[in-house]
Amino acid sequence: MKTSIIGYPRIGARRELKFASERYFKGEISEAELNDAAKAVRLAGLRAQKDSGLDCIPSGDFSFYDNTLDAAVLLGAVPARYAALGLSPLDTYFAMARGYQGENGDVKALAMKKWFNTNYHYMVPEIEDDARIRLSSTKPFDLFAEALRAGVKTRPVVVGAFTFLRLARFTGTKTAADFAPAVVAAYRDLIAVLQSAGAEWIQFDEPSLVTDLSVSDIAFFRRLYSEILGGKKIKVLLQTYFGDVRDCYTDICALPFDAIGLDFVEGKRNLSLVKTYGFPVGKTLVAGVVNGKNIWRNDFAKTVTLVGELRAVCPDIVLGTSCSLLHVPYTVKAESKLSEEYKKRFAFAEEKLDELAALKKILSAPVPEETEEYAENVALFASPRSGENLAVRARVAALTEADFERKPDFYTREKIQKERFALPLFPTTTIGSFPQTADVKAARSKHKKGELSDADYESFLRDKIAECIRKQEEIGLDVLVHGEFERNDMVEYFGENLDGYLFTENAWVQSYGTRCVKPPVVWGDVSRSAPMTVKWSKFAASVTDKPVKGMLTGPVTILNWSFPREDITLRESAMQIALAIREEVLDLEANGVKIIQVDEAALREKLPLRKADWKADYLDWAIPAFRLVHSGVRPETQIHTHMCYSEFGDIIRDIDNMDADVITFEASRSDLRILDDLKASDFRTEVGPGVYDIHSPRVPSKEEIVAALRKMLSRIPREKLWVNPDCGLKTRGWTETVPSLVNLVAAAKELRNED
Ligand code: GLN
Ligand code: ZN
Repeated sequence: MKTSIIGYPRIGARRELKFASERYFKGEISEAELNDAAKAVRLAGLRAQKDSGLDCIPSGDFSFYDNTLDAAVLLGAVPARYAALGLSPLDTYFAMARGYQGENGDVKALAMKKWFNTNYHYMVPEIEDDARIRLSSTKPFDLFAEALRAGVKTRPVVVGAFTFLRLARFTGTKTAADFAPAVVAAYRDLIAVLQSAGAEWIQFDEPSLVTDLSVSDIAFFRRLYSEILGGKKIKVLLQTYFGDVRDCYTDICALPFDAIGLDFVEGKRNLSLVKTYGFPVGKTLVAGVVNGKNIWRNDFAKTVTLVGELRAVCPDIVLGTSCSLLHVPYTVKAESKLSEEYKKRFAFAEEKLDELAALKKILSAPVPEETEEYAENVALFASPRSGENLAVRARVAALTEADFERKPDFYTREKIQKERFALPLFPTTTIGSFPQTADVKAARSKHKKGELSDADYESFLRDKIAECIRKQEEIGLDVLVHGEFERNDMVEYFGENLDGYLFTENAWVQSYGTRCVKPPVVWGDVSRSAPMTVKWSKFAASVTDKPVKGMLTGPVTILNWSFPREDITLRESAMQIALAIREEVLDLEANGVKIIQVDEAALREKLPLRKADWKADYLDWAIPAFRLVHSGVRPETQIHTHMCYSEFGDIIRDIDNMDADVITFEASRSDLRILDDLKASDFRTEVGPGVYDIHSPRVPSKEEIVAALRKMLSRIPREKLWVNPDCGLKTRGWTETVPSLVNLVAAAKELRNED
């Protein structure tokens, strides 16, 4: 039995690559120095893998920014505007990743998108009609050779042709099929060169195979690979992850791959596919049994059973991870503050390597159950886990239909609320946060370090809130917010205030490029021991006569941006969090807060990759979790929600079904499709499509906002339209925020006066 992984983290155990890259961007270090830092990170990863006893070690999983971008460069898909800058290859690469503004020109970055169902983002390759696709970079060979010099014969990894062509954007009239011959030739050249460099294996990552595929998609895949693989002398691993290959299992089995990698953690149908159709004789199954996305120890008893079932069908199995370890932090050893009680249940990347080694030993033993490693693991899983809250469990178990149903119905509430608030037509508001200026961050960090007393910090925050309210009144907004100055982050703040959550010191995961996130960990049953936001909202309301929105993060977003538990279902965790947020909602209401916004910024993010799974695996608990949060409020209390995107056309009914009174969301001027969708679906929730983009410091003119609103009014009933920016303002400065909002208010007034 052998072991393998799909990829290893690459930002550096202490984020060395991140810091070196940022210094390079600022011109503080040279390209050679950046290369040295990158090499050190790669060699440390290589050493960790080798020392753990891992049999098959990948190379080329490293990236200065993103692997899909690497593949674009490898294939020569560099849009003309970047090539025209005349920069060095590395700087051209970074220009594609981050944009470039300087002596050589001014270009924006390529688009960035979420990598399948993860929080990692990839750069969207752009292929122009006159692109000359051909093998154009030496990265796979250089990194293979570097590892070889370090004593490891690796398996080079590249994004496969099919996934590459599916993710790419074609800017002209040509399509993927037009470029297929050139792409095939480039991959064939790649194989030939790697083979002459001494590589025995190559790994093609094809995560697109776990998404919904049509018959012609599959035919295209087959065509690509029968040509790429024809006459090859190297062994090829087809690696899939993030789900199962239900649409194409028999097709991929029939192609001349030497090994197929399947995900048995997220790929819920893979086991039955293997059992039903068998596995091709003479090929290797790389079985993804160790979760590459979450941080918990592997349950060896379950894994041994699973591998037993696979062995009955396929004699040649390599044990692997479900996806690249890129999605987990480096090592539990870097956590000095958490107690053993918690840490013994964690497995980050390094610990997952140890788990693979242990599983290999266990599964090679005559009686796996008799090995020491097995017994130890079984004992761990059998030992009681802290953090259990029986009261919360009982409350979730006792939930009935009525708990998810707000009374009275939407239209009755709408009427009651219109009378209560008597807001003008096109009410103006913001999404919640106001500029987090340096003084706000400094005060928070001083308070955290104990250099600023609780009392002083509180009075600082009160001053900030009062000032923010005054500014909003001066601007003339209708519905105000307190500004969220007490929050570092919309999930972390609630995690810190809820029981059942854990925080790490160094468990960073790459989100995109040099940006890393440190998701909190859902450890136990989640509950609220005290109000979390009431005092701020109450204070804000006390300094103005205008309505002030209470501001909360919703249960689905809190859960989606955390490492979730595996010992209970996502539904169960979501309901626990929902009950805690519900208590906060009711407390806000009891304290006189008349409008409450519950942000679900990440609701769409974890929508399953396959449409057939959307409802049962996700929406059936995510939407009810949101409804549970607000079903207990009085009819006259207005519930808002906010989403950071507008691509919810395909789940528009579900969004309406969240039964909020108002939803604000991002709406880029170029994309009016969502407005058509709202109209077509008779969307009943009142809507505030963002009228300007807060991600840029640009101040939108009044005329521009009026024009945007007119477009919206062509699709949205006037009494349902709210006027607001597209997201929170915390990353902005006051200098652009005030004039932007002044114009926003003026635009709303102009339209009102036309009435
Ligand atoms: N209320 C939050 C804010 O304004 C919402 C942030 C978000 O949608 N990401 O910052
Ligand atoms: Zn947002």
